[in-house]
Amino acid sequence: MRILKHAHNTDGIAVELLDLSDERERLEREQRTLSRKQHGSNNYEKQRRRVAECHADLRRKRSDFLHKLSHYYALEYDLVAVEDLNVAGMLQFGSNSRNRASAAWRTFLRMLEYKYEREGTHYVPVNPRGTTKECAACGVSSEKPIWVREHSCPSCGFTADRDRNAAYNILVRGLKQIGAGCSESTPVKTALPTGNASVPVKCVIEAGSPVLTARSA
Ligand SMILES: [Zn+2]
Repeated sequence: MRILKHAHNTDGIAVELLDLSDERERLEREQRTLSRKQHGSNNYEKQRRRVAECHADLRRKRSDFLHKLSHYYALEYDLVAVEDLNVAGMLQFGSNSRNRASAAWRTFLRMLEYKYEREGTHYVPVNPRGTTKECAACGVSSEKPIWVREHSCPSCGFTADRDRNAAYNILVRGLKQIGAGCSESTPVKTALPTGNASVPVKCVIEAGSPVLTARSA
């Protein structure tokens, strides 16, 4: 979920993952150039500064995006339920892009946490175990390999995007955790994720709000 999209909301909006591949390519190019310079020379020093600038540029862009997104959530929602990554152990996956995504997600969660604390609202990390397997409509668990992007329940027939189904389960667990679980009188189906909007990263960066721009798009 952190790989394909940055965040899936239960209200049907998914924010796309920030694409910094151009910046990363540039960094790698400058690093290669640096490796060819003679250590300690003036040119080496000049190139070293260029590499440092690339690093700073990456950091600034990532941080700006995460700040705007977490700020938006903290103002817009009284409660946010998220995967507790200490439990999820995302770092067990080896590849660089996954590790990077995981690190960015951790940073994002820390920002969310302090912003929610500041607003006096609920930031609820929940145990994500089984949230992708569990059906948001009936609760029955079914095995689902990582490449299957669609949740299709063999028990009740409910279908939804894999991450949206998981996001809903996470929300339900979060609500239960603060003692505001869905009661019998609020059937789960009325609140099930139905939307399918995908929000480009540039909306968050330029307007600071994924929702406004999603509507105007
Ligand atoms: Zn089901």
